[in-house]
Amino acid sequence: VFQYSLPVASIVANFTPPSDGKPSLLTHDEVETLFHEFGHIMHQTLTRAPYASLSGSATAQDFVEAPSQMLENWVWNKQILARISGHYLDNSKKLPDDVLNKMLEAKNFNQGYFYTRQLVLGLTDMTIHTQQGAVDVDATYDKTYEELLG
Ligand SMILES: [Zn+2]
Repeated sequence: VFQYSLPVASIVANFTPPSDGKPSLLTHDEVETLFHEFGHIMHQTLTRAPYASLSGSATAQDFVEAPSQMLENWVWNKQILARISGHYLDNSKKLPDDVLNKMLEAKNFNQGYFYTRQLVLGLTDMTIHTQQGAVDVDATYDKTYEELLG
């Protein structure tokens, strides 16, 4: 007899522990990790798939990180950060805009190069695996790199 079981998931992670009379104060990086993993929790628990083997992270490999990536973006949003953060003794003291702006600049630094290089790697792979006969891997990479990055 088929019986639907509600999905159950948990996050097992290492975060900054409480210390010196202070509660656990997560770094921004840890908050991003928490949101990322919570994306997996949402993916695992909001399913209505009839079989566990077809639900949650048992999905197309290129989609498995999508919910987590979406939630990660929220920790870089000023309004979201204002709602979820503040000084632990005075929650009205929020992360200053200039600090968040510097964090965003650091996060975005070099992203054009990073993603263009990812494109080089993907196109090189596609080129190598769609050619007939012998393939010069180094020449294919060099040509693709030259075309996209100079
Ligand atoms: Zn993930």
